Amino acid sequence: MTRLVLVGPPGAGKGTQATALSQKLDVPHISTGDLFRAHVAERTPLGEEAKRYLDSGELVPDTVTNEMVRERLAEDDTKGGFLLDGFPRNTKQAEVLGQLLAESGQGLDAVIQLEVPEDVVVARLLSRGRTDDTEEVIRRRQQVYLSETAPLLDYYSDILVKVDGVGEVDEVSDRVLAALRGRQ
Ligand code: AMP
Repeated sequence: MTRLVLVGPPGAGKGTQATALSQKLDVPHISTGDLFRAHVAERTPLGEEAKRYLDSGELVPDTVTNEMVRERLAEDDTKGGFLLDGFPRNTKQAEVLGQLLAESGQGLDAVIQLEVPEDVVVARLLSRGRTDDTEEVIRRRQQVYLSETAPLLDYYSDILVKVDGVGEVDEVSDRVLAALRGRQ
């Protein structure tokens, strides 16, 4: 059970949980947000293109995002599994991911939904201090999550694992691991 996707609203703790879970499961943590931020920091052509989307809270166009993920999943360290954080972000990306995995006879094992109440989410975002964490951009990312990303919960209903995301990091990651074991 190692090909996993983590879904949840901005501020649900996806990045923190993905880091903890990738250690416990010994699979690489693939965060499209981190990949984009690295490109922006290094001023690569992809970074130059992605920057305005990150700065405004909009999604980077699918063609750019899907190609970046395709290249990342082609690397050897993903052979034993992976934990995707922040991808897919809409159903079109989910379809492309499904096709990509099917090409090598793979499929997703589970999609983990981190459930966190709105007030906790806002408090986490405001304490994080990322440059795209201004009130306006936070609000836009929440809207984009609801309209673009939340439909994935239906799309993946067959393999969806819902986990309460409130609590200490280890507490939540142990809950995720227990929920995954419970499905096997
Ligand atoms: P995150 O670190 O997951 O909060 O992502 C930060 C920003 O990166 C988002 O607001 C988007 O602009 C961009 N981004 C990350 N993942 C994706 C994706 N799968 N598709 C499009 N844009 C993305």
